Amino acid sequence: EKFKEGLMKTRSSFSERVNDLVARYRKVDEDFFEELEEILIAADVGVSTVMELIDELKTEVKKRNIQDTKEVQAVISEKLVEIYNGGEEQKNTLNIQESGLTIILVVGVNGVGKTTSIGKIANKLNNEGKSVLLAAGDTFRAGAIQQLEVWGERVGVEVIKQSEGSDPAAVMYDAVQAAKSRNVDVLLCDTAGRLQNKVNLMKELEKVKRVIERELPGAPHEVLLVLDATTGQNALTQAKTFSDATNVTGIVLTKLDGTAKGGIVLAIRNELNIPVKFVGLGEKVDDLQEFNAEQYVYGLFA
Ligand code: GDP
Repeated sequence: EKFKEGLMKTRSSFSERVNDLVARYRKVDEDFFEELEEILIAADVGVSTVMELIDELKTEVKKRNIQDTKEVQAVISEKLVEIYNGGEEQKNTLNIQESGLTIILVVGVNGVGKTTSIGKIANKLNNEGKSVLLAAGDTFRAGAIQQLEVWGERVGVEVIKQSEGSDPAAVMYDAVQAAKSRNVDVLLCDTAGRLQNKVNLMKELEKVKRVIERELPGAPHEVLLVLDATTGQNALTQAKTFSDATNVTGIVLTKLDGTAKGGIVLAIRNELNIPVKFVGLGEKVDDLQEFNAEQYVYGLFA
């Protein structure tokens, strides 16, 4: 239900346009595919992903000898899920250790919803009975530490911090020690997101990661990249920048409720080969959903 509600914008543009297309065309022909291609591109699915999808659709339609457009609609959903999953079901859950400390590094550009997502994830883990600690690793942006503390209070989770302007690597060192000595299950680490100075930011992230690796072998167990769905193809560019600098293991795609271009999920998966683990569907603490391609695609047309 929440999923359906959060995807209203995408549903009312993308899904309705596909439904309308299917209603207008009785036969599956070249014009039908051309219009479908336009709709998919408008939904931010991404040109190369669209081409791949249309090719596969054409092949499938031929193979099954489909003539009725109504039947094609089912194949479209099927293929969208298949393209997302890349032949195998994607692991959309967090890599939480069976025992001992799990460290999750959260990266992304300012304003994408990083702090909010950390709060939501902390709350979710907390509700699952895990003890959680937050590390205020964005020591650069004014107000970032305080904002994280507000979320910490809201969800009942403590924040390890130093003063603004201090070395983020030192904050991480403290946070890992605190998490170890308190036998915490999950340490969620916020990081800076000033992309104006890309080289410095990436160096800082590398340093932070090195400290974590040194203090807990095998960590970080996840590097989550937060992307804003409303920024469309820009989100893809950001994803490329971050995944070049660090080994991103999953994506949190925020503000899906605020865009009609939900196709960006497919573009990210298909072009970067990084699974979307969570989607943000609003500003409130429980507006975060584990991502599942089947649920997503079928939810769009339901
Ligand atoms: P940060 O700078 O990356 O830490 O971004 P914030 O967490 O401060 O979020 C920036 C803005 O986006 C805030 O107003 C959030 O309430 C809002 N936001 C975050 N996630 C979502 C989401 O999934 N949906 C909507 N509609 N707003 C969101």
